[in-house]
Amino acid sequence: MRAPWIKNYFFDVNLIASSLIDTYTRLWNPTALCEIFVPGDVEMLLKNQPAVLKEDFYSWKLTRSGQFSVKTAYNLAFEEKTRLSQPEAFNQPSINPLKEKVWKVLTVPKIKVFLWKALNGGLSVAELMEARGIKVDSGCQVCGGSTESINHILFECPLARLVWAISGIPNPQNGFHQTSIFVNFSYLLSLGKKRKVVPNSFRVWPWILWSLWKSRNELLFRGFTPIPSNVMLCANQDADEWFEAQVVEEKILSETQVNIQKRKEKWKPPPKDWSMCNVGFDWNKSKNLAGGGWVIRKREVLCFAIVEERSVISNLGIRLSLW
Ligand SMILES: [Zn+2]
Repeated sequence: MRAPWIKNYFFDVNLIASSLIDTYTRLWNPTALCEIFVPGDVEMLLKNQPAVLKEDFYSWKLTRSGQFSVKTAYNLAFEEKTRLSQPEAFNQPSINPLKEKVWKVLTVPKIKVFLWKALNGGLSVAELMEARGIKVDSGCQVCGGSTESINHILFECPLARLVWAISGIPNPQNGFHQTSIFVNFSYLLSLGKKRKVVPNSFRVWPWILWSLWKSRNELLFRGFTPIPSNVMLCANQDADEWFEAQVVEEKILSETQVNIQKRKEKWKPPPKDWSMCNVGFDWNKSKNLAGGGWVIRKREVLCFAIVEERSVISNLGIRLSLW
């Protein structure tokens, strides 16, 4: 079941069903229908005439049949509750693309999980714990003011503001959003997109968020007062180490690829009247076996070929015998 297709771009949006019913015959007015709907749908409408002889009745718009169902009522109530508790989620069509981007951020997997949790309200801050009925001090333990929300800890707390200020990352034009973590994450995820060369200082933002969260926990559970410069230093060190490790890994990977390419080089026969000796060794660690072989060839004739395999449990030496 669907609404009939309207054939014109412009139509009366206040049109009601009764204006399409012939008051004399109490049936659909074909002329009025043809002016608005496509011919195929007019045909269908004419086969289903309005029930003018029946008393008016209520129809539940969330089911196709118009019958009320508890399931659709529950979904409606749940959506309304979410709309009230998380209005940011409804400010834009969907925040799913934002969540997807988190998995592509250049950082360690544990920080990606942390970022995803922050976006999904999965961090145990006072505001969310209170909402779940747990009695806690709702204020921020770092600054002593306001309500401790995820956005407050990561962007709005004076500690966070100081850390962002010394980070070298430009703040949004009007500062970080005071309540919407989605807006703030959207800004961080778009950092450097419009620039041809992205400054190295931009890449540290996931570690800054992680360090801010760790500092809050250090204060809460171990009583260590966070110092902005230390929080930033820690974030920078961790980020630099990780990016350096990626460079080393890339080097190893490219060297391995070069070696593989070298191995794939085809054997070429020696020049005329020359003899060539190729030697090769290999070992199997799990079976404690090693083997070696060599082959002497002239341009077209195979002279010798020796292959021997030996256990290397007690003796590493491999003896090659002539055949
Ligand atoms: Zn605070």
